Amino acid sequence: MWNNFIIVVTSPSGGGKTTLCKMLKEQLNNIEYSISATTRPMRKDEVEEKNYHFITEREFIIRKNKDHFAEYAYVHDYWYGTPRENIDNALSRNNDILMDVDVQGAMEIKKKYPNALMIFIVPPSMEILRKRLKERGTDNDEVIEKRLKNAEQEMDFAGEFEFIVENNELKSTYKEIENIVINKRRL
Ligand code: 5GP
Repeated sequence: MWNNFIIVVTSPSGGGKTTLCKMLKEQLNNIEYSISATTRPMRKDEVEEKNYHFITEREFIIRKNKDHFAEYAYVHDYWYGTPRENIDNALSRNNDILMDVDVQGAMEIKKKYPNALMIFIVPPSMEILRKRLKERGTDNDEVIEKRLKNAEQEMDFAGEFEFIVENNELKSTYKEIENIVINKRRL
């Protein structure tokens, strides 16, 4: 066995991290996925407790004040947070814990858990990112523009991550990330 760790996967919105996280969870043993809490409204293809815990802003603030979150951030007009117990429970079950968080959350985790594996996924270009967000069809044009503007700022943080992976083609990007995790488990 290895010393279990946190795997932080971050990318600008539409960078492909949700799919890549899902693949990691399916392909590797001993990985749990951290379900975050958010105040964002549920999208039509989402399921409570599978994608997020969808809670009200009031509830979020109460939990935040009770120190319920290992990290939290305000992203694109909504709150998002990682319940501390997700991390504690997974590690106590001898599993690694995978989390999909924005750059602010990632920096917070790195500070609190220096052994976390930090992976940043970059889209091949901003144009491709815009195309992916449009094709995804989950956000209107105004929201897409907001997410793209945010993406440019998020890219400035890439240098803070141990690994930067360009997501050109899903299968090879996945293999690259899988190898990064397997190599860390060998340390
Ligand atoms: P979305 O609304 O597209 O599901 O997520 C928007 C952004 O919030 C993404 O960058 C996602 O990684 C981030 N996010 C999701 N959950 C959390 C969380 O628990 N904490 C933080 N800091 N960011 C999160």
